[in-house]
Amino acid sequence: AKRLGGATHQVLDLRASRVGLASDQLEADVRAALDTDQLAVAYQPIVRAADGQLKGVEALMRWTHPDRGPISPHAAIAAAERIGAIDSLGGWVLTRSCEDWLGWTTAHPDLALDLSVNVSGRQLMARDYPGTLERVLDSTGMDPQALVLEVTEGILLEESGRIVRTLAAIRDLGVRLALDDFGTGFCSLTYLRRFPIDIVKIDQSFVAEMGTDPASGAIVEAIARLAHVLNLSVTAEGVETEEQRAGVLDVGCDLAQGYLFARPMAAADLAARLERPDGV
Ligand code: C2E
Ligand code: CA
Ligand code: CA
Ligand code: CA
Repeated sequence: AKRLGGATHQVLDLRASRVGLASDQLEADVRAALDTDQLAVAYQPIVRAADGQLKGVEALMRWTHPDRGPISPHAAIAAAERIGAIDSLGGWVLTRSCEDWLGWTTAHPDLALDLSVNVSGRQLMARDYPGTLERVLDSTGMDPQALVLEVTEGILLEESGRIVRTLAAIRDLGVRLALDDFGTGFCSLTYLRRFPIDIVKIDQSFVAEMGTDPASGAIVEAIARLAHVLNLSVTAEGVETEEQRAGVLDVGCDLAQGYLFARPMAAADLAARLERPDGV
């Protein structure tokens, strides 16, 4: 069902954006985007659920196509994966966001700010991804301890031996791992123990349903409780209302992210917020 949903989304994304440009055109345009200034990274604050204190930011890719306007990150990632350009695209996002992080933390030496970057399954499974990551850390001066890579549970289903080795090599660099969109795929709580994960991000669909569906609240609570037993931290995604913030705090989420706190913003806008005495 997950796979079908993803494919449907992509078709809708393509249809929604003007008259039907074929997807192979989008694919060709990915390469052009990498060579021009059509790409950007937006940053969304991640805060402590209890008091809203800024703890980190998630880097979210933005592609503004010259003719078609904004392209959804999912469509862009899928196109890049199809043409084998995901390493370039993902590498660009990682490098740019590490550079931005260095700028913020250089301006604010006392700022403890984590940077979360999404990594697609295909990107993670590329030859020597940990080596590529290490080179970006070295060349940008990014502190590995402040970096979190977000992976989705889908990757854990395949080639589990190789995945475990790759994730372990990433962790050996000092970089932490978050399991993104938790609860949406063929997830299993046993993943939390089998794989070297540090953070669980509870998908926004659960957060959205918590107010109306008691089962969603119970699921989030069970995930949070087990995660804490395993010494993992729990982030709630898509927190849009004060009720939801109170709800996710109540069931034990440590961190929260969502429009209630801040929308994804340009690097310069985040820098401006950091100038304010109370941060975000
Ligand atoms: P994600 O990793 O789950 O990122 C969170 C998405 O939820 C973002 O959508 C964000 O803008 C949105 N969001 C944040 N707060 C709220 C809220 O309160 N309510 C609602 N309704 N939405 C909220 P965005 O930026 O469109 O990204 C969509 C997905 O694209 C991401 O989902 C991630 O899976 C993927 N993505 C984005 N950038 C990258 C990237 O650089 N690499 C990879 N591999 N995937 C990326
Ligand atoms: Ca994410
Ligand atoms: Ca997510
Ligand atoms: Ca999501």
